[in-house]
Amino acid sequence: MAENASGSCTESPKASSAAMTQCYENYILVDVGANLTNKKYSRDLDSVIQRAKDSGVKKIMVTGASIRSSKEALRLTRIYPGTLYSTAGVHPHDAKSWEDDETLQELESIASNPECVAIGECGLDYNRDFSDPETQRNVFHKQIELACQLNKPLIIHERSAQSDVLEVLSHYSNRLPPVLVHCFTGTAEEAQLYLDQGFYLGITGYLCKDKSDSGVRQLLEGGQALLDRILVETDAPFMYPNTRASKLPSHVKDALTERSMTFLHRYCTFQRNEPCALPAIVEMVAAFMRKSPEEVALATAFNGLKLFGLNQ
Ligand SMILES: [Zn+2]
Repeated sequence: MAENASGSCTESPKASSAAMTQCYENYILVDVGANLTNKKYSRDLDSVIQRAKDSGVKKIMVTGASIRSSKEALRLTRIYPGTLYSTAGVHPHDAKSWEDDETLQELESIASNPECVAIGECGLDYNRDFSDPETQRNVFHKQIELACQLNKPLIIHERSAQSDVLEVLSHYSNRLPPVLVHCFTGTAEEAQLYLDQGFYLGITGYLCKDKSDSGVRQLLEGGQALLDRILVETDAPFMYPNTRASKLPSHVKDALTERSMTFLHRYCTFQRNEPCALPAIVEMVAAFMRKSPEEVALATAFNGLKLFGLNQ
């Protein structure tokens, strides 16, 4: 990290294109959420990870969303030590599969490993009723309790359920570990409520999908103090950043580099996004914030390393 932090590219907006390319190759990125246990990667995970590294993604957190995927995520960390880290959690969609003490014990034994750096994703999703809200809340409570006990950060998935998420979390206020609201898709106002609680926000390719005037884009445009509270994630294979979306402002499209577009268009599709899409996401975040991509890359990578205690 150190050599890059002192590089000249961070404070040189008028850098020549040659210099920009050089800086760009030095991006240091951390993808704090990729579902690499998804069967879409079963045939070529090695290449997916190599491409991620080539694009500047140094570390990837593999999301656990069920007992099965949390175990599998932990297994992957042992194949790619120092690059992959895992999380352990039961997604609200899967809350109905929770079987009292047994699930909790399994989750705890997975999460007790040092490579497993967070509890989640867990939370509340009222958009789709795969599990009823009451069950979702119970299962959410148990995972928050586990995060408090193990003192590992909590990764929250929330859709159309902010007030209940805040209510549930309020029961743990003085014991809560750091909280990341992953793949944030709400309004700027909702974001502020999370920030007021000291929580972190995960930004994804949803940036390209958000067509509202009051959502994630507005948040980034207004957010001077935001840089130490956001992290970036691809949520691969989901959330493909469609940089050709018609509503994406032209100054944001113009900020995309040839290099990041090569990774995006050569390897990522709507059907299967990859961690190597992260440079494109960072460049868009930076453009909305009117900052350099190097600054956003460095800040979000630093936030990731700090929040999850990843070894450099
Ligand atoms: Zn999620």
